[in-house]
Amino acid sequence: MSDLAFKARELDLGDPLAQRRAAFVLDEAVYLDGNSLGALPAAVPGRVEDVVRRQWGELRIRSWEESGWWTAPERIGDRIAPLVGADAGQIVVGDSTSVNVFKALVGAVRLAGEGRDEILVDATTFPTDGYIAESAARLTGRTLRPVPPDRVPAALSDRTAAVLLNHVDYRTGRLHDLPSLTAAVHAAGAVAVWDLCHSAGALPVGLDEHGVDLAVGCTYKYLNGGPGSPAYLYVRRGLQDRFDSPLPGWNSHAEPFGMRPAYEPAPGALRGRVGTPDILSMLALEAALDVWEGVPVEAVRAKSLALTDFFLECVAEYVPEGRVESLTPVAHEERGSQVALRCDDAGKVMRRLIERGVVGDFRHPDVLRFGFTPLYVGFADVERAARVLGEVLRGTAASG
Ligand SMILES: *Cc1c(COP(=O)(O)O)cnc(C)c1O
Repeated sequence: MSDLAFKARELDLGDPLAQRRAAFVLDEAVYLDGNSLGALPAAVPGRVEDVVRRQWGELRIRSWEESGWWTAPERIGDRIAPLVGADAGQIVVGDSTSVNVFKALVGAVRLAGEGRDEILVDATTFPTDGYIAESAARLTGRTLRPVPPDRVPAALSDRTAAVLLNHVDYRTGRLHDLPSLTAAVHAAGAVAVWDLCHSAGALPVGLDEHGVDLAVGCTYKYLNGGPGSPAYLYVRRGLQDRFDSPLPGWNSHAEPFGMRPAYEPAPGALRGRVGTPDILSMLALEAALDVWEGVPVEAVRAKSLALTDFFLECVAEYVPEGRVESLTPVAHEERGSQVALRCDDAGKVMRRLIERGVVGDFRHPDVLRFGFTPLYVGFADVERAARVLGEVLRGTAASG
């Protein structure tokens, strides 16, 4: 056994989260794409079967009440809350991340008031956030300024209404400094909106502790909710009374079954709801969240960093010099839960890796992306992934 394989075995033996792997449906492949679509938690199929056959098939309309369908958005929001450092009553689940970015950003501009005419957006953002921000700016008559996250403090002024930032860069895996950026946004009198798609379920976020105003995130990446599972919206308690959603549907009405012509928002986080929730996906997500029971986020973060450290160590050992370059910061405080490697022929290299049972993904034009999900990826997986990468890259080099 090589030194690194031996080390992997020792690390797996000392891993307090190793047992969680049994809660997922996995096969022999090394699955390092959980930052794109989380693996299936073993409890989900049975729950979905029950929701469809019994709750829908037998109880039918009664399930809105008897099976808790109507209150699912806020109930499941409260299950996500501890994972992002939020007290109960501030998160509702529903709609896609894109739609929630729209609600949050327009809501943020409305909270900031009339005098402020600029919106700042993370220049390196996941594209959908940028597109929505552009439209939100046009609709609210504000100017959109794309700014790299580290230059946000210098770009803030008394003209800034709202700032939309990604917590972790989806491409490079860089973790941005949420506490200090949020404090800077607040010092300028603006509203901070964070996209947590690549941090929730992978590292502590501390929404309440750091005074984040609004946040959104998806649930199909590190939260394993399933393809297209609904996203969530966090509205800080102190702002809820003033949060004025640009999508005020009947589900967020103070009296939804009053069927009144005039809109009157429900109290609390409920006003982030819009229309009838997607119950099948939402309840699959609820079952998927069982895997977090008794798992401290700090333990997840500790293992995530150990996994990415070990992957970088194995890559340095196994991959021929100069064939890849890590885009992911070395410093722990700047690293999310993925490693992005710049590599010539990255598309072809990823296809070969997948053929050999190591599943990551390729991001245009030249990035190999590997996501590390601490609940079901172990250190032996990491060693194997780096070893196969080295073999593939030697093979590619040899065949020209
Ligand atoms: C994955 C991701 C999204 C996805 O948005 P959808 O509306 O679910 O398609 C949005 N923002 C970021 C930062 C993401 O990583």
